Amino acid sequence: MAQVKLNNITKIYDGDVLAVDNADFEIPDESFTVLVGPSGCGKSTLLRMIAGLEEVTEGDIYIDDERVNDIPPKERDIAMVFQNYALYPHMTVFKNMAFGLKLRKYAKTEIDSRVRSAAEILSISHLLNRKPKHLSGGERQRVAVGRAIVRQPKVFLFDEPLSNLDAKLRVQMRMEISRLHDRLNATIVYVTHDQVEAMTMGDQIVVLNEGKIQQIADPATLYHKPANQFVGGFIGTPPMNFIEAQVEKNDTISQLRFEDFSLELPSSLQSVIRDHSGDSLTFGIRPEDIHVSEDGINQILTHVELVEPLGNHALLYLRTEKNSFVAQTNLSDLPQHNTSLTVSFDTDKVQLFHPTTGESLTSM
Ligand code: ADP
Repeated sequence: MAQVKLNNITKIYDGDVLAVDNADFEIPDESFTVLVGPSGCGKSTLLRMIAGLEEVTEGDIYIDDERVNDIPPKERDIAMVFQNYALYPHMTVFKNMAFGLKLRKYAKTEIDSRVRSAAEILSISHLLNRKPKHLSGGERQRVAVGRAIVRQPKVFLFDEPLSNLDAKLRVQMRMEISRLHDRLNATIVYVTHDQVEAMTMGDQIVVLNEGKIQQIADPATLYHKPANQFVGGFIGTPPMNFIEAQVEKNDTISQLRFEDFSLELPSSLQSVIRDHSGDSLTFGIRPEDIHVSEDGINQILTHVELVEPLGNHALLYLRTEKNSFVAQTNLSDLPQHNTSLTVSFDTDKVQLFHPTTGESLTSM
């Protein structure tokens, strides 16, 4: 397997579309690196540049220690699995999987052993003589992955491979691809717009927005210490609540003043907000950090607009006179909608963001 290095990579299409802006990071050997972000953020472009399917405008790409900018795709020793993994309809599963090796003139015995071993890993040995039209969507997807495995590439590149599958199958394939990563000790670069896929599969996640890297971290760090408001809002469902606030200094303690309530923050955040005395900030809190509670100092009286029971938890859509936010609760005794409810914010868990740059003031 191999590591991939991207040194200050920029991609400009047709002279003026800046698709990737100075991406500079490493994909460690044997890592499962996910490139995630909303549609159009540049993640596929980045992947296609690693594959050699797209020219790099500026910067250098290395696979291990070899600069690959000018090396054609088929000589880069990578294998790619696409969203639209067209299988050859007239060929059996075996032949579909063997095709690439045959083109590369591998010996018949070698092809046979590689295809059978990949089929076993993917639990499709019993399907080797079938044609694609007699396979389910999940089975076809497995064949497409099999085609990549038989190549024994240095790096696997996956471009939204699960987007065409239904929700249940997606969850299953997610597990299978993660297991595959463990079993093959492969270096995988995986593109998705789905933050749940990113969080459940990646050990290194690269969050992109508008061509720029927002943060590179493991799932827990992204969730608990987002580098900026974009990451805070993008990772997690339902998303983090954001509320505009003003820092107000009393004699000894600084408070956050919202339009229709205020909060006292713990001592750990006092120095942060003291530096911003009189400024406005964006306050962020995750739904599970808002508790239904009559205790504590930071109580807020809200109106319950909607209750969404989801089995083991429920979402509460709450409103004060000027603000609204979502809370998540595990209570079995749920409040009714159109009633009043007192909640408290777990102020140890709040995130504060710069109101114009969106940079986190609390995730240092
Ligand atoms: P993502 O994979 O995150 O959806 P892409 O990498 O496909 O994003 O696209 C990034 C940006 O580059 C978008 O603004 C897109 O419209 C633009 N783009 C992608 N491919 C081309 C192309 N061949 N020519 C011009 N612009 C392109």
